[in-house]
Amino acid sequence: MNGTYHIWTIGCQMNEADSRYLASQLEALGFAETPRAEHADIAVLNTCVVRQQPEDKAVSKLLSLGDTKKNKRRMIIALMGCMVGKREAEDLAARFPFVDVFMAPSQTDALIDYVLSRDEYSHLDRTQIELADYRLPAVNREKAITAFVPITLGCSHACSYCIIPYRRGPDRSRKPEEVLSEVRSLAGQGVKEVTLLGQIVDRYGFDLDSGINLAWLLKEVAKIDGILRVRFLTSHPSYIDEELIRAVAETKKLCPYFELPFQAGSDRILESMRRGYTNAEYRQVVSNIRKIIPDASINTDVIVGYPSETEDDFMETMKLYGELKLDLAHIAKYSPRPRTVSSKMPDDVSEEEKESRLNRFDELVAKVMGENNAPMLGTVVEVLAEEFQASKGRWRGRTPQNKLVFFEHEGDCLGQLVNVKLDWTGPFSMIGRAV
Ligand code: SF4
Repeated sequence: MNGTYHIWTIGCQMNEADSRYLASQLEALGFAETPRAEHADIAVLNTCVVRQQPEDKAVSKLLSLGDTKKNKRRMIIALMGCMVGKREAEDLAARFPFVDVFMAPSQTDALIDYVLSRDEYSHLDRTQIELADYRLPAVNREKAITAFVPITLGCSHACSYCIIPYRRGPDRSRKPEEVLSEVRSLAGQGVKEVTLLGQIVDRYGFDLDSGINLAWLLKEVAKIDGILRVRFLTSHPSYIDEELIRAVAETKKLCPYFELPFQAGSDRILESMRRGYTNAEYRQVVSNIRKIIPDASINTDVIVGYPSETEDDFMETMKLYGELKLDLAHIAKYSPRPRTVSSKMPDDVSEEEKESRLNRFDELVAKVMGENNAPMLGTVVEVLAEEFQASKGRWRGRTPQNKLVFFEHEGDCLGQLVNVKLDWTGPFSMIGRAV
């Protein structure tokens, strides 16, 4: 062992995937994971700035690591993820002089170069990393049943409120052979379910040879031995087409599950957000999916309290969700992010009103999901067993529609598809037993 590392991760699944790549690179160089950042020789914070709160958390964590480093001068501290954009790196270096390396999202090489340049690690060799070939880090190896695999990086859409295009750059697709070899490697290490990731995952392939698109890639991934299920997220309503929906319908391993943010129900707000679709167009996409896949589950994202959002606008958001009876909604209170178009608009919905809208939407989601799930009581669903919860003596897994299920099963079923009869259903989870 050459030393220890710790990676703290917050934010989206893309960050989780980036942290996994970095962990496996560091392990290939002989570093071992340690559970506490203060004890690590290399401490990495993988950050998110989509909202103010995760950014504040990262800053407070970073300042505390700065204190640790005062008595541990050889410690390497790296900051990665969406806090680090090209234009921000200089400011950050001035604000946090104790940070050794700043890495933009998905760019882990800067840390590896820095480590190799340090005298105490000069005996290490970059070829060790090349040989590692998408190895899962040790902490995941024993029990990694599911894994995230990025397929498009960045985003070019520039929704008015979103900071991601400024931090992750324009969208570009990974080469299919690279994605397929990564999934093959994960399958060889015991992974049973992969989720292909992109900020707009359904734009996959737009910059590649003709015929290569998400529908094609999903079908290719589904052919890989050992992989039992394939998911993909996040879809943008403007790019979902019939070919993609049919691929999901016709390929057994592709889960009938869509992450399809609508963000707002009012056309005036959608236009100001520059989302690129109307309320009616969103409804049409949902109806197209359900026509071909009647049991599809559709999750969404919603922002409440966007600049100038009135009570009537908000009620249209409630109505859209309630009428379509979607599944889980991730609800965020609007907060202005630097350099975005909407940050120049007055943030004129009071904090109190944002909170009230968030709570009312939360209640609606619990009610609708409770109603969506209730008819499943007494039915048998197929669950991929992801983890045994020893303290509760039960297994945890998900249905193809991504519904969370806890169940009893005699003996080890980790990584297997288990038929579970549901004895209880709630809005956010279900309980049953293997049959
Ligand atoms: S589609 Fe819009 S919200 Fe999503 S990452 Fe791109 S700019 Fe941000």
